[in-house]
Amino acid sequence: MTEKTQLYLVPTPIGNLEDITLRSLNILKQVDVILAEDTRTSGKLLKHYEINKPLRSYHIFNEHKTVDALITQFKEGSTMALISDAGTPSISDPGFLLVRECLANNIKLECLPGPTAFIPALVKSGLPSDKFVFEGFLPHKKGRQTRLKALAEEERTIVLYESPHRLVKALGQLIEYMGEDRQASVSRELTKLHEETKNGTLQEIKTHFEQGTVKGEIVIVVDGKK
Ligand code: SAM
Repeated sequence: MTEKTQLYLVPTPIGNLEDITLRSLNILKQVDVILAEDTRTSGKLLKHYEINKPLRSYHIFNEHKTVDALITQFKEGSTMALISDAGTPSISDPGFLLVRECLANNIKLECLPGPTAFIPALVKSGLPSDKFVFEGFLPHKKGRQTRLKALAEEERTIVLYESPHRLVKALGQLIEYMGEDRQASVSRELTKLHEETKNGTLQEIKTHFEQGTVKGEIVIVVDGKK
């Protein structure tokens, strides 16, 4: 393993720009290069904090192609920070592949603690948080029914990411597999101006969100099977 840390995974705010740690800011100022999922989105954040470092794009469409070149640069001594558009890299975002390759090549890495959407959603749900499963996004088409069927048997609290336009449909499918009385929680726009958390049965939450167009970013939390 290399002596110095060469890759830092740095969490960035999920809405509120104040949600970045002092250590994250220091690391972003120290590294040679910042790898960003979307250089325009991250450019705004970095500008806000007056961080002026070379930005390179690293996203799901180029990660397989660029990872070998990055490993070569690490071996030549470069230090880099990986950031995603929001939250913690590698959590429903690019990162896993680079981490795996760094470990395979004995390149020392650190993941800084910081913002991620599923933790505040889980805590605000009031559902058991001692054991939970993070499912990320359900498959859109193929495999969705199979996942839902398996999740219906899950005894731990379930955390899902979902897009706003699919929320009501997803709640309908959860009702189909888990029953309308299953306790759940939907958090929308966490840390932002219009943050909202609706707790209740799956049916109550579905009725609530059916009232109008759902906007913003969404985390669904569902009680485990009792
Ligand atoms: N890496 C991120 C993390 O650590 O949470 C997740 C990135 S994933 C591409 C984006 C999804 O995260 C959104 O569709 C939504 O489900 C969830 N998300 C991100 N920010 C959120 C917020 N402010 N409020 C609610 N959900 C959010």
